[in-house]
Amino acid sequence: MRMERKTEILVIGGGSTGTSILYHLAKRGALESMLVERGQQVAPGQTSKSAAIIRTHYSNPTLVTMAVRSYKFFQNFSREVEGHHSGFKQTGLIVGADVNSERGLKENHVMHGQLGIDSRMIDRDEAKRVEPQLDPSAYSAIVYEPDAGYAEPSTTASSFASAAVELGCKVLTNTEVTQIRKLSAGFYIETSSGSINAKKVVLATGVWFNRFARMLNLDTIPIHPVRHAVCMFRRPSEYSGTRPILFDFPRSAAFKPEGEFDLNVSSLETLGGQVDPDSYDSNVSFDEVSTFSSRVAEAFPIMSSKGKLATTFTGLYDNTPDEQPVIDDFSDQGFENLYCLVGLSGHGFKLCPEFGRMMSTMVSGESFKDYDISIFKKKRFREGNLIKSKYQGVATIG
Ligand SMILES: Cc1cc2nc3c(=O)[nH]c(=O)nc-3n(C[C@H](O)[C@H](O)[C@H](O)COP(=O)(O)OP(=O)(O)OC[C@H]3O[C@@H](n4cnc5c(N)ncnc54)[C@H](O)[C@@H]3O)c2cc1C
Repeated sequence: MRMERKTEILVIGGGSTGTSILYHLAKRGALESMLVERGQQVAPGQTSKSAAIIRTHYSNPTLVTMAVRSYKFFQNFSREVEGHHSGFKQTGLIVGADVNSERGLKENHVMHGQLGIDSRMIDRDEAKRVEPQLDPSAYSAIVYEPDAGYAEPSTTASSFASAAVELGCKVLTNTEVTQIRKLSAGFYIETSSGSINAKKVVLATGVWFNRFARMLNLDTIPIHPVRHAVCMFRRPSEYSGTRPILFDFPRSAAFKPEGEFDLNVSSLETLGGQVDPDSYDSNVSFDEVSTFSSRVAEAFPIMSSKGKLATTFTGLYDNTPDEQPVIDDFSDQGFENLYCLVGLSGHGFKLCPEFGRMMSTMVSGESFKDYDISIFKKKRFREGNLIKSKYQGVATIG
């Protein structure tokens, strides 16, 4: 049945970003807030594909602060979001660097220590003690972050959404936004299940953002959807159970042991060009599988004889030129009360608690004062003021 609805605040997109924003709005008492998601349930987009690794290793102190605060939120999730869970599991993270990345790793390690993070520079013997199946011979510098881990991304998003509904907000799934227009006051939104009048709109639409920019005749933001391949391997009993995650710079690979026997393997780099988010090649090629297989076998020799390929899949990163998020409004283009939190560039899950806190503050008409987040404004692309990483080509972990 088509309906005409009204709301104060409309969040479009029900991934980890949008659901966290809605939850934080609800916590602030902004109960006239609503979220629309075109999928049958929340998190059908990139959130559901996420490795959901939660760590604090970044090059930029603002991102470190965001990651630390978000990490603490995940650690206490069921207290923060009463009675709900994120599936957070602490595993530890080993970061192995070679001559090209060693300097950045050491500088970050010093900065992380100053910001209160438990970051330990370890040698190869110590790395072998932390993960006996690892061959650390390719690394000239190694950092161990024992607090890191991973969460369950879809559970996290549905926890935020359910908690927001329990507090009094609305979540409409199966509701695709097909048109959005600016009114003299507020916005008119046409959806697959009726229209909505909203005073304020937040776009948390990830790789689909620029469709909304075009509907509204806004300047597009340089967000490039790029394909990201993942191979899941089965680990043998010798390498089973909770094990540390590994970021391997020489092989440009991320290895995330999952559950009892799985190993999620992907690249640290962004490979390939821009794709259409609704029609891209979602197959993982033979070449990709064989590259990932060799990387696994080199880093964890037991996998060469006893590991097995289980499955493959692809997701998308909403990459910006510096691979960092855009957190902004559109008042510069004459659009008051329109906001976006997009361009998360393949590392936005871990930051979703802080994203929710920041955006709910901004939408409530206050400025976010806890720390300076102006570096995330979209004007940085125009002004050539990009956020810098200490690592070449892998800004998503930098
Ligand atoms: C393979 C992979 C691994 C990753 N690993 C990590 C990791 O280890 N750690 C980490 O921190 N991050 C990781 N990320 C990144 C992280 O998962 C994302 O940055 C984050 O989940 C994005 O959330 P989002 O809510 O912004 O986007 P999405 O989850 O994509 O949500 C956007 C939503 O908008 C909805 N939408 C779009 N158009 C419309 C419309 N017209 N009407 C209604 N709804 C609409 C979509 O259906 C979608 O649900 C990974 C990403 C991928 C793909």
